[in-house]
Amino acid sequence: CGIVAAVASRNIVPILVQGLQRLEYRGYDSCGVAVHEASLGNTGAGGLRRARSTARVAELMAQVQHEHLQGATGIAHTRWATHGAPAVFNAHPHASYGPNVAPADSTRGGHVALVHNGIIENYEALRTHLRSRGYEFASQTDTEVIAHLIDSLYDGDLFAAVRQAVQQLRGAYAIAVIHKDEPHRVVGARAGSPLVLGVGTGAQAGEHYLASDAMALAGVSDQIVYLEEGDLVDLQPGRYWLTTQGGKPMDAQQRPVRTVA
Ligand code: GLU
Repeated sequence: CGIVAAVASRNIVPILVQGLQRLEYRGYDSCGVAVHEASLGNTGAGGLRRARSTARVAELMAQVQHEHLQGATGIAHTRWATHGAPAVFNAHPHASYGPNVAPADSTRGGHVALVHNGIIENYEALRTHLRSRGYEFASQTDTEVIAHLIDSLYDGDLFAAVRQAVQQLRGAYAIAVIHKDEPHRVVGARAGSPLVLGVGTGAQAGEHYLASDAMALAGVSDQIVYLEEGDLVDLQPGRYWLTTQGGKPMDAQQRPVRTVA
């Protein structure tokens, strides 16, 4: 239903949660956020952490404050269930902990965390394949296959893994993905569901955002690049990179930055 993601050099959890609040009017049954803790330079802090809820976004905000969930890199989602009941274990972000691992604590320690809008039509075939490779499923969603698929293809470069993964997906998706080994990176892709890139300016120069609707970024960025069908995007602080589904780079003329009112 709704996606917000950000890379910066300060805590972006308030941007993520306020972005979700701007998308609340669309309706949702659950919500969640995942961050890379090490992205803030926290000493001793580990990798990915997430919080999910079937309550309102305001309560998710209280939950992340209570749990001191912070990061300079993160993704967030409001879910409108298509596959699997509205429940915390089906709420996004979904995570992969790698093959042959039963996650003992599903709020931290994942390899990959991902949010998704849309429907993956071939998720049953992908799930069967991934189970045979040792992946355990923690949800009933079509979305979770994407997290395990990316983990199975990951070889040190999240962008490359996402590019290979989306080639195996049938259906509609907008996704935003983070990885434990790359604290300052968010990778996004779209086909059949909208996704925009926001470019930070002024005091926020160097920050980059993703959202399913530019409205989610109101007050954060009015410099918007509208992704087109099949586009992939690689966000890091200070740079972003857009390619076609095949990995062909695109320049500012092909995907111009537009100022939105
Ligand atoms: N199909 C996914 C699910 O049921 C995503 C739904 C959405 O777009 O919110 O979790």
